[in-house]
Amino acid sequence: MNKDGNCIFCKIVDGIIPCIKVYENAKILAFMDINPLSPGHTLVIPKEHAENIFDISPEDYALISGIAARIASAINKSLKPDGVNIMQLNGKAANQVVPHLHMHVTPRWFGDGLTISAWEPKPGTMESVKENAELIKAHLQF
Ligand code: 5GP
Ligand code: ZN
Repeated sequence: MNKDGNCIFCKIVDGIIPCIKVYENAKILAFMDINPLSPGHTLVIPKEHAENIFDISPEDYALISGIAARIASAINKSLKPDGVNIMQLNGKAANQVVPHLHMHVTPRWFGDGLTISAWEPKPGTMESVKENAELIKAHLQF
């Protein structure tokens, strides 16, 4: 299994750094975030080291998403939040701090004061929106 000796999350997978585990299978580990943005904040990671979404197959990414959905459902039943954010950051410009792919499952409550999904919508110019759609479509691979 691909591991990075300097990676905090690889060390968690190997049990060198402890974690509060919620779920694991052969490929995936889910554990509590040590700095929870809200009560119940859980991280879902591949056991194999992958830096970000560009370093993992879409199939393995789907497996991680599936576990995140099950964790979200368990959070919804147990902690009864008003909502849940699923976040997965790729690259420093996207505020990714730990360079081992992880999906955040973050329960939300009205008035919790978190600003993680509080952006101001600004209309785009249709010309550049269409132009970007064409660029993306030209590079889609299946
Ligand atoms: P990022 O900004 O990279 O998406 O978020 C990294 C997350 O990992 C942060 O929410 C941070 O609190 C969490 N984290 C960093 N180090 C540790 C650790 O040693 N143990 C646990 N459980 N979470 C960690
Ligand atoms: Zn790693």
